[in-house]
Amino acid sequence: MPENVAVSASDRQGFDRRFYANNPDLTVFRPTSSQDVVAAMQSIAANDPAAVGHKVQIACGRHCYEGFVYNSDTKYMIDVTGLRQFGTVSLNDRTDVVCIGSGYGNWDMYRMMQNVYGKTLPAGSCYSVGLGGHLTGGGYGVLSRLAGLTIDYIYGFEVVMDNGQGGPEAKVVTRDSTEQQDLDIYWALRGIGGGQIGVITKYYFVLGELPTSPSLMATTSFGWDWDQASTRLTEQQFVDLVNTFYSIFCSQDEDTWKVWAAFHANHVESGRLSCPAIIFNPANSGVSDEEFRQEVDLLISDWTEKFNAVVPLTAEDHPINGHPCISSRSLIGIATPEETGQPAARFFSYIDGTQQLNGSGENQHGKYKSAYHNFIIEAQMLSAMYKGLTTSVEGIDLSQARVQMDSYGGKTNEIGSGETPIPQRSSTVKLQYQTYWKTPGMLPCQTDKEVEEKQLDWINTMYSNVYAATGGIPVNQNNPAVDDVVTTDGCYFNYPDIYIGSRVEETPDVEQAWELYFGSANSERLQKIAAECNPSGWFTNSQTFQYK
Ligand SMILES: Cc1cc2nc3c(=O)[nH]c(=O)nc-3n(C[C@H](O)[C@H](O)[C@H](O)COP(=O)(O)OP(=O)(O)OC[C@H]3O[C@@H](n4cnc5c(N)ncnc54)[C@H](O)[C@@H]3O)c2cc1C
Repeated sequence: MPENVAVSASDRQGFDRRFYANNPDLTVFRPTSSQDVVAAMQSIAANDPAAVGHKVQIACGRHCYEGFVYNSDTKYMIDVTGLRQFGTVSLNDRTDVVCIGSGYGNWDMYRMMQNVYGKTLPAGSCYSVGLGGHLTGGGYGVLSRLAGLTIDYIYGFEVVMDNGQGGPEAKVVTRDSTEQQDLDIYWALRGIGGGQIGVITKYYFVLGELPTSPSLMATTSFGWDWDQASTRLTEQQFVDLVNTFYSIFCSQDEDTWKVWAAFHANHVESGRLSCPAIIFNPANSGVSDEEFRQEVDLLISDWTEKFNAVVPLTAEDHPINGHPCISSRSLIGIATPEETGQPAARFFSYIDGTQQLNGSGENQHGKYKSAYHNFIIEAQMLSAMYKGLTTSVEGIDLSQARVQMDSYGGKTNEIGSGETPIPQRSSTVKLQYQTYWKTPGMLPCQTDKEVEEKQLDWINTMYSNVYAATGGIPVNQNNPAVDDVVTTDGCYFNYPDIYIGSRVEETPDVEQAWELYFGSANSERLQKIAAECNPSGWFTNSQTFQYK
């Protein structure tokens, strides 16, 4: 393991500039093997045992949306970027297992899977997200309707952990493990999310089970002006647009799974609403490239007609921030609606299209929240959303604020809610509440608290208003404490949000967050496994139970 590498500002901050690890004594371990991770943990245990509990953090792609890694408590960081093993290995008498080190990012993974095996994973679209936190938290992306979540494909893990029986050690857990505790760890790591239980050093997949990359993909995008002639888009028009999006793109018919789209309900300060869409030609579909092109043209004509009947489309470029973070120009073909009356498609090979979509956007200050919905979004929820999106707040810029509604379900909903920790297996649309802002002229370690508070207040207020009927949160479908039929189904751990529950003062208890992320039954099982496997609380954060 490289030693005596100076700790720099780059070690103290990730994608979200709200968070900074300012401890002057910060030590960063930079392992290149699982044995290095064991050595790092042994060194901490020998020299500073009191640090175990909340001062040791793991860093990979640095894309966490809360300050779990970068905060003033963090004293030791194990940065797994150097864990880069890749290739076919023998495991449990199998010779068809693909191993990928947890230090890679999405873009490396897509290229290696495609260029070496002709395979892929239905993981996130942003290139710079790290596999370390991303895959164990679910690994959701634009292929998920067609292929499910990445956790659905994980065969096993190599994880360094200290279960209180003789110090840290690297162990391999797979679905073919024979010990019950190993099977429990395997189950837990397929969704519990990063920074818990141990340091994942390798992910394993069975080659023949991996999705074959689609042969082609097409992209397009629809946009609308918030200001129509002299009037602003009305609440009814907004509701009609969202409902049209839902009826076109959130269908659960299997022949629609190859289409993924997102309605970007951008704040009025951004000027426009947008709806990027991606159509895949799945491998072995039997559809030729030319037939695919014709099918895409027909689909786009149909969608254009339906959307135009609600609110006329704009011919202008419209913002697509969030995931992916790109311009609508990069998704639409040369022709514009102005010239042809409808957006055109752009056609890509799978790897080229994946690269086209992979923008993560610049590192900024940001806040994220999420919600799963199993049915069409209720009218009173859309009304509260419209109010939030058309409200400006003095002193802050909301031009990068939005509710992104992703078409969801399909293959993701083909497995049971207890098979992995992620119980949301009947949702049809996944909502991502986001706001990003810049602080020009400020150093990485600085933040404008007043602006931050106003931004947080704006997004938290809109969110709790949308879910006012259920106490300000999108309660889970199977919550035993809820009698009424609810249309929501909790939240996504990979978009962590301390305001739904944490150890931080003035937020609800952490139990509420786990209920929302994992549902009652899975949450109970996860707590038991985490307590058994991580008794000293080696890896914890303000949203885990073992935080000390
Ligand atoms: C721009 C952007 C785009 C995103 N797009 C998507 C998307 O399309 N789909 C999606 O599902 N999610 C997406 N996410 C969320 C992302 O999956 C999570 O933020 C994820 O946790 C990031 O992992 P990381 O390794 O990059 O981040 P880090 O901040 O390095 O780590 C995140 C958490 O995982 C822990 N961790 C890191 N490495 C390991 C390891 N090896 N073992 C155990 N724990 C570890 C860390 O301690 C931390 O708690 C996006 C986030 C951003 C900022």
